[in-house]
Amino acid sequence: MTGDVLFRRIALIGTGLIGSSLARAIRRHQLSAEISACARSPATRTRVVELGLADAVTDDPGEAAAGADLVVLCTPLGTYKSIAERMAAKLKPGAIVSDVGSTKQSAIRDLDSSLPAGVHLVPAHPVAGTEHSGPDAGFAELFQGRWCILTPAAGTDDRAVEKVAELWRRVGSKIELMDASHHDKVLAITSHLPHLIAYTIVGTATDLEEDTRSEVIKFSAGGFRDFTRIAASDPVMWRDVFLNNREAVLEMLQRFSEDLVALQRAIRWGEGDKLESLFARTRAIRRSIIEAKQA
Ligand code: NAP
Repeated sequence: MTGDVLFRRIALIGTGLIGSSLARAIRRHQLSAEISACARSPATRTRVVELGLADAVTDDPGEAAAGADLVVLCTPLGTYKSIAERMAAKLKPGAIVSDVGSTKQSAIRDLDSSLPAGVHLVPAHPVAGTEHSGPDAGFAELFQGRWCILTPAAGTDDRAVEKVAELWRRVGSKIELMDASHHDKVLAITSHLPHLIAYTIVGTATDLEEDTRSEVIKFSAGGFRDFTRIAASDPVMWRDVFLNNREAVLEMLQRFSEDLVALQRAIRWGEGDKLESLFARTRAIRRSIIEAKQA
């Protein structure tokens, strides 16, 4: 089916890392006859034109969404409700509204109530990204070989779900259907908590004395350097992730804190066997991620 136009017009609301990557991939695989884009700042709108990411660009979500068969929100989670309200009256009957947000229960909560009857909501989360932001950071291969998790509510039109799934398949993703609350729990431990830990470690290091800090940067080998990369991720996006997945993150944080205390105890009492057996288990997990080609 490669090369068939899937949609007559796709509207991308937000053209940062994810939105611009999707625009590039849609263009490359010719998945839509037309792309309309909405970007908030004049600087981003200028780049959208210069990079040829869309056929039309506006600062009004309603104008971008008007007449689109598929609208994909690619903005921070905290913007969803107001964007849905602003575009609701302009959506055409039968249109599909989707998104790429990192938390799914909040996406459904903030979008569903504002969308008119006859519009299909198919939330999605491409599990792909980098620590960079903005339209210049995007690239068409970002979703290649990565999972895209769809979390439609029970009773959602099957054809709408399949069209969104097909879009993501054509840009190279593997599809998984999941309940939104299960998604939020899984991502809390695999993505949200690791980011929180990275923000904490880098924050703690930068709170140290001036000369210690320079030593930290000077000797930032493997471990710390990897954390600084994760901790360089977009502050607004991650603020919204934690505010919108509060329960699941707090639950995972509680379990993590207990395990950390157990490690602290093992170090204090010289229980090398405990440390070694945990490290052996975690090493095996890394190997299985590499084997699954998700490294
Ligand atoms: P990004 O590079 O910072 O881009 C965000 C875009 O949203 C920009 O075009 C920005 O416009 C626009 N925007 C911000 N606030 C807005 C507002 N109030 N109204 C209208 N537009 C607004 O962020 P991103 O990494 O692409 O993330 C976008 C979404 O993808 C988030 O929901 C995030 O959870 C999800 N996601 C991210 C990753 C990742 O690794 N980054 C992975 C998977 C999913 P301006 O440029 O004009 O400010």
